[in-house]
Amino acid sequence: MLNIYIMLKKEYNCFRCGYRAKKSNVQHHFRRTTACKREITCPYTDEEIKILNERQFVKEDYKKIKNGNIAEIINIDTQNQTINHITNNITNNHITINIPKIIPFDQDWDLSLIDYSDKVFLSIADQVYTPFLKLILENEINNNVIIDNYNTSKGLVFKKLNLEEKYHEITIEKIIDESMLKLNKLLHDIYDDILSKNEKYNNKNFNKRIDDQKKFINQKLNDYNNNKNTKIKIREFIHNIYIDKKDNAIQNQKLVIQNKDNIETEY
Ligand SMILES: [Zn+2]
Repeated sequence: MLNIYIMLKKEYNCFRCGYRAKKSNVQHHFRRTTACKREITCPYTDEEIKILNERQFVKEDYKKIKNGNIAEIINIDTQNQTINHITNNITNNHITINIPKIIPFDQDWDLSLIDYSDKVFLSIADQVYTPFLKLILENEINNNVIIDNYNTSKGLVFKKLNLEEKYHEITIEKIIDESMLKLNKLLHDIYDDILSKNEKYNNKNFNKRIDDQKKFINQKLNDYNNNKNTKIKIREFIHNIYIDKKDNAIQNQKLVIQNKDNIETEY
């Protein structure tokens, strides 16, 4: 990641793909009609990339970027609370950052911030999977997937591999397949929870309604797995939800990377 910061003399960067070359080549790179691919370690939002890509050609800013004062450059142009937060907490040579614990993709999402009324809604609604994913991603710590745009075939997921939690590149197909399985499992958890809360009333109609909903979501998952058209449709929905949440997910990636750098840097 630090490679992005260390720029050799008279070398310019594409802060998106990591391309590095002399000025005219980088400027030519920016004029390409097809967008370049986001580098796996790129921790910047599209807006921040745009700022950095432009500002590096300003002499003073080039120096700042070269010295690693990237936060300063981005702060000038944006109200980036994450970076403000990090900068403001550097005191007495101790860096204290309360990093929210981002949930790895191979674990269940955190549902603690979802209202009970929303859960009840999910137990009667006809559309379940996509509203549920939207609700889940409203909680920042669940934003562990980065999908850059609609044309890309791969995305990034934050997960643990070989004892290390970091971002891994996997196919979007796999991200969505696994998302569907996770959503199905969590919906069952929610429905069981609702059933247990209403146990004392022993309302047969209500219980049947929930059981029907369980069958319904299983059928949906089944359709997703076996019906090509359904699969394409659901994939598109889920893909778009992740793209909508991309900036939040990148802020999380920034915190993960920043945190790692801080651990390695002993003052
Ligand atoms: Zn590029």
